[in-house]
Amino acid sequence: MLFSELNIIDPILKAIEEAGYTEPTEIQEQSIPLLLEGNDIIGCAQTGTGKTASFAIPILQNLMSKPSSGNKVRTLILTPTRELAIQINESFKFYGKHLPLKHFAIFGGVNQNPQINALHDGVDILIATPGRLLDLINQGYLKINQIEIFVLDEADRMLDMGFVHEIKKILEIIPKERQSLFFSATMPKNIRKFSHSVLRRPKEVTV
Ligand code: AMP
Repeated sequence: MLFSELNIIDPILKAIEEAGYTEPTEIQEQSIPLLLEGNDIIGCAQTGTGKTASFAIPILQNLMSKPSSGNKVRTLILTPTRELAIQINESFKFYGKHLPLKHFAIFGGVNQNPQINALHDGVDILIATPGRLLDLINQGYLKINQIEIFVLDEADRMLDMGFVHEIKKILEIIPKERQSLFFSATMPKNIRKFSHSVLRRPKEVTV
């Protein structure tokens, strides 16, 4: 299988080619078609499998296929750590380099003012750790009531780190009508049960 066989739009395919990648990894081959069709997915995949591109590429493409409804955050990606947030943001920068979409990462432990300024300028794709996200929402700097795509990354680690309360709060605010993606390195019973509160008729991808 080649990336060029996955119905990826030219500006993204060009970025993939510039990275020197010709073949999708297994998770990419499974996830990209399902996500481009608009499905929810539950993915059992570790970091290092090409997981980030498996969601970044179809998210960019799905956002491009629909007009923006103004200066609103359209995609929210929740991730447990600052390092992961930065890494995911870098992926969007790379695969989206020929597209007009704006992306930004917010996380705790740093001054919030540069983050507030970026949000003010408009962000299509927001990558966030849960605590800082809720802080900025509670202060009125950010709204997530127009999210079209929601990603929960490393769900097992999020629950281990005690983010369950924050995630439930966030799920209450985002629209019910959305595309959702749920990734976890492990899939014990409690995680699978938790995924039911996030997903609607998900397709499963495992690598
Ligand atoms: P991730 O699992 O998202 O952390 O990705 C692991 C590494 O694989 C990253 O350094 C990516 O740049 C690289 N990668 C992602 N997709 C591909 C691909 N299709 N072919 C080769 N390397 C890739």
